[in-house]
Amino acid sequence: MNIRVLGAHNCESVDSRFVCLLIDDILMLDAGALTSCLSWQEQLRLQAILLTHQHYDHIRDIPAIAINLFFHDASVSIFSSQNVYDALTTYMLNDQTYPNFFEFPVENPSVSFTAVVPYRQEHIEGYTVLPVPVNHGAIALGYQVTAPDGKVLFYTGDTGAGLSDCWEHISPQLLIIEVSAPNSYQDYATESEHLTPVMLAQELSSFQALKGYLPEIVVVHMNPQLEAEIAAEITELASQLNASITLAREGMQIRV
Ligand SMILES: [Zn+2]
Ligand SMILES: [Zn+2]
Repeated sequence: MNIRVLGAHNCESVDSRFVCLLIDDILMLDAGALTSCLSWQEQLRLQAILLTHQHYDHIRDIPAIAINLFFHDASVSIFSSQNVYDALTTYMLNDQTYPNFFEFPVENPSVSFTAVVPYRQEHIEGYTVLPVPVNHGAIALGYQVTAPDGKVLFYTGDTGAGLSDCWEHISPQLLIIEVSAPNSYQDYATESEHLTPVMLAQELSSFQALKGYLPEIVVVHMNPQLEAEIAAEITELASQLNASITLAREGMQIRV
């Protein structure tokens, strides 16, 4: 399984993009930097987009990919909770802000939708996808993706603390997890349901206690303006745990 990091951050600038991860050129995790980072041909190869939750930084490029596919008479499948579909059709693809590409063009809508259910596996293009609830707003789902060759990753999307229930359902070789802010932003992280390095340490210790191992870990959704502080704290954590923890960056490729 090859994972290409199109976006790794929670804010956008010329140097940073919203979170967006491309698996083997065909499966997308979140849609924060989809169209600006892929050529036309790469966009047309996409088979499915898995959305973790309805926040803007994760769904932002759905209208953009939809209109591109419309002009190519092509389509892509979107998988997420019903909440995300409701947000997309209420605020973005509502025939006012943009056409409702879930229903247009009638003969071949540019985007199709499948509502996923927590803990119910989906089989998508040879991959097995398991949606698992995480702690971020009303409904947020992480996805465990098992490739045809048996390699497994889990992507949390945005999440706050308390993931031990989630860990019980997954066994990844690669964990892609968010750390939005450094330890000095603990109150902010707790209130907005995100993680700091110290909170990540607690989650990893509960993972290790439950599962008896630690996977390779890649961190995403950093605030770019606080990244130096986050990076220093993550480096310290990795050495404490004797674990592989890497901060993702735009353009990075990860092989599992
Ligand atoms: Zn969020
Ligand atoms: Zn986010």
